[in-house]
Amino acid sequence: MMIKTVKTVEFKDKRVIMRVDFNVPMKDGVVQDDTRIAAAIPTIKYIIAHGAKTLTLMSHLGDPAKDAEKAKAKAEKDGKTFDYDKYIKGKHRMAPVAAHLQKKLGKAAVVVFAGEDGCFGKKAFIDSQKPGTVIMLENTRFHKEETAKDAKDLDKLAKSLAEYGDIFVNDAFGTAHRDQASTASIAKFVPVSVAGLLMEKEVNYLEPVVTNPVKPLVAIIGGAKVSSKIAVLESLLKNASALVIGGGMAFTFLKAQGKKIGKSLVEDDQIDTAKKILEAAKKCGAEIVLPVDHVCADKFDAASKPVAVASVNISDKLMGMDVGPKTLAKYKEVISKAKTIVWNGPVGVFEYDAFAKGTGEVAKLVAEATSRGVITIVGGGDSVAAVNKFGLASKMSHVSTGGGASLELLEGKKLPGIEVTRGREYFIAGNWKMHKTRAESAELAKALVKSLKGGKHKYLAAPSFTSIETVGAILKGSNILLGAQNCSTDEQGAHTGEVSVLQLKDLGVDVIILGHSERRHVYKEDDALINKKMKLALAHGFEVILCVGETLDEREKGKAEAICKRQTEKGLEGISAADLAKVTIAYEPVWAIGTGKTATPDDAQAIHKFIRGLIAKLYGAEAARMIVIQYGGSVKAENAAQLMAMEDIDGALVGGASLKAETFTPIAKFS
Ligand code: PEP
Repeated sequence: MMIKTVKTVEFKDKRVIMRVDFNVPMKDGVVQDDTRIAAAIPTIKYIIAHGAKTLTLMSHLGDPAKDAEKAKAKAEKDGKTFDYDKYIKGKHRMAPVAAHLQKKLGKAAVVVFAGEDGCFGKKAFIDSQKPGTVIMLENTRFHKEETAKDAKDLDKLAKSLAEYGDIFVNDAFGTAHRDQASTASIAKFVPVSVAGLLMEKEVNYLEPVVTNPVKPLVAIIGGAKVSSKIAVLESLLKNASALVIGGGMAFTFLKAQGKKIGKSLVEDDQIDTAKKILEAAKKCGAEIVLPVDHVCADKFDAASKPVAVASVNISDKLMGMDVGPKTLAKYKEVISKAKTIVWNGPVGVFEYDAFAKGTGEVAKLVAEATSRGVITIVGGGDSVAAVNKFGLASKMSHVSTGGGASLELLEGKKLPGIEVTRGREYFIAGNWKMHKTRAESAELAKALVKSLKGGKHKYLAAPSFTSIETVGAILKGSNILLGAQNCSTDEQGAHTGEVSVLQLKDLGVDVIILGHSERRHVYKEDDALINKKMKLALAHGFEVILCVGETLDEREKGKAEAICKRQTEKGLEGISAADLAKVTIAYEPVWAIGTGKTATPDDAQAIHKFIRGLIAKLYGAEAARMIVIQYGGSVKAENAAQLMAMEDIDGALVGGASLKAETFTPIAKFS
């Protein structure tokens, strides 16, 4: 499911609450490095420029409780007095950060600091601000609820923060892996949650590395410890053609291969893991690139004299500190074949100048690859520090602002702060009804496979029963699901003229449309019968589109909501929350189907919102947020974008306009 971003919502006159990562290094109340503040500026400017009434920012800054405890212990050890207030003021209070932000924003917006008494109960203060004001809240970690383990405690702070916004924007990629009140729980209490521009950029670069990279993918993974990188190595192996393993962790791999590593860093308890990874790489056909020569030292010290070791084996008196020239030549060869490069962790002790050459060369090779059009992504604190040291950060496609967050994303994990910004996927379905011979269906299916290739949404083609097999063969491997327009209430038996779920399964059908208005009104299917089919289809693993909608007479009598309520509730009777995840609801006002009359976007939105509310009552807020509700009824290219722009309209069930690729494609590719 795609993340929803600030570009998809209307900010005019809205109050916005945004999580940023302003966890910047501070000394005596002065910001030491404002990279993270600068990274949030585009989203701040975007929201203000789009007319937000107020923009309230929240962030943590260090960890006041833990940091103060440590500083106090140190002061006691050194025989010094410890002034808690002074310490906290200089390191953890947000007022100086707000002042710094004001300097960076200049005339673009006025920044006010909400005060030192926390994040609770500030609503009146925020509401009294002039339009377009940016408000900085105090450090969220002054509240123990921010990092609480118990959901109730998290929710207490989250609810209070949610009072400041009609829209929650999460732009704090650096804290996206934390499941905390201001990063994730808050989304439960605001109507809309979206990602900021920084978060969007991070996700757009990092996520495809795991899900669908432009291949060949070369991963360069370095750093000290195998133990902290096992998950990322395993995850990247699935797609990488080569895994370059460098830094301290390489020696655990070399030892696992029986090589001599001298006094080099090693994790003996990870030798078996290293062997397993080497084995897994063989199975995946991924090349593992380990150092074949080294630059060594007799001890781990900046002043140590570098000793070149031309072979892979290192004598007992030395330790590996950097890679040698033969290894770098190999890196060059491997990197030259990549179309995507992801780099996490240095390949040597780059902090010491005498051992920085290898990491510097890698930075240069990756930068050169960028200029050849290769997608290059650098993540993780140390490798980011390295590209900064070598002045090459601007030469990378993307340098991540998140250490732990970028690593967890590359491990293929779901990050709480990102998950809350995911939107429902648009789902555009074509119902071909009782039209077309097999040859005609095949022609349409072929045209759709071509025209919808690369389309961003979820697609379905539902031909008549006679064409399902033909169309299924054409859709195989495409991004279009195969649908059926109905099924029987029973698996098999004496049901002349009916088609069973078993037969549809046999044909490779993915989705079954049930309760279509023509089934309800022409073939007199009632709610109980539709519910029986729903249960059967879901039990056999199909996705289902449940159609609901009122007739013209019912609408004119003001019964639209009551009809949709009955049909939705009865249709879903006895269906579990787990099965609901496979249900799409299509709101299809009967008077609009095949008539050329379309509900206005506002009228359609009102019913969609009503149906979503019903789902919330039946299955809870999260299920309601996630369920896809399509609109159906004379959808065409001219009205598709307007309808789909409505907050609760998540796609379309299309009849007439689905019969030709020329009319369906613009609907399916609406923007
Ligand atoms: C339908 O058949 O579900 C439908 C909405 O048809 P049309 O798009 O032709 O109104």
